[in-house]
Amino acid sequence: MNFYCAGNWKMNMNAEAAATYVCQLLAQAPKAEAQQLLIFPPALIAWQVAELLKGSAISWGAQNCFGAEQGAFTGENSPRVLLDMGARFTLIGHSERRQIFAEPDTLLAQKLEGIQRIGLTPILCVGETLDDRRWNRTREVIVRQLRTAMKNADPKKPLWIAYEPVWAIGTGEVASPLQVEEAHEILRKALAEWNSAVAERTPILYGGSVKPDNAASLANLRNVNGFLIGGASLNVTEFLAIQANAQSARG
Ligand code: PEP
Repeated sequence: MNFYCAGNWKMNMNAEAAATYVCQLLAQAPKAEAQQLLIFPPALIAWQVAELLKGSAISWGAQNCFGAEQGAFTGENSPRVLLDMGARFTLIGHSERRQIFAEPDTLLAQKLEGIQRIGLTPILCVGETLDDRRWNRTREVIVRQLRTAMKNADPKKPLWIAYEPVWAIGTGEVASPLQVEEAHEILRKALAEWNSAVAERTPILYGGSVKPDNAASLANLRNVNGFLIGGASLNVTEFLAIQANAQSARG
């Protein structure tokens, strides 16, 4: 399986900064590995990012999107429009969506089903809080998040997973290789109980303070198929250094 680096810009950058970023990324990304790069710009500047990426192997996606094509869903993004614009992916269930915008697992199940049906690839984010980890509830929490959101998932359509321990997102606190591999293995097994072919082909990304200097030790873990990167993805040099370090660690 390829090793993917996905950059989540969150609510950062304006149109001008995004244009500078994408031009720099197009100029500096290694051609052979460009198809393993994904970027997630804010929806308001996605149109411009999509135009600049046209014809390149780099993919882009939305940070959030609804599960219906259109309708009375004020403020939401339509997966149909994203698809028309050239998006391939959308994140769903990022911990900031769960915590700040109170998105429950049941809503994520609805979104995931609709997003797959319409043809975007959902990247479902799951992860435990620090309290969950301290009370030894990591397995229970991430498996519950996975199973509930996948209630109506289609095994024939692509789905990616991102394991993002909440305590490691934007904190500089990175999960240890042992903690990451353990969680990814739990998720892989939970997927296999649902469908073994899906478990084998589903990329499971790790996210949580990935930086150029910790990329190598996390990239060569057996069940880690890529990174979801927040802060460090805002700088093209750092983003590409993560990819380069990950690729060389994997040989
Ligand atoms: C994220 O936003 O998904 C993330 C992992 O952020 P950071 O890399 O900044 O921890």
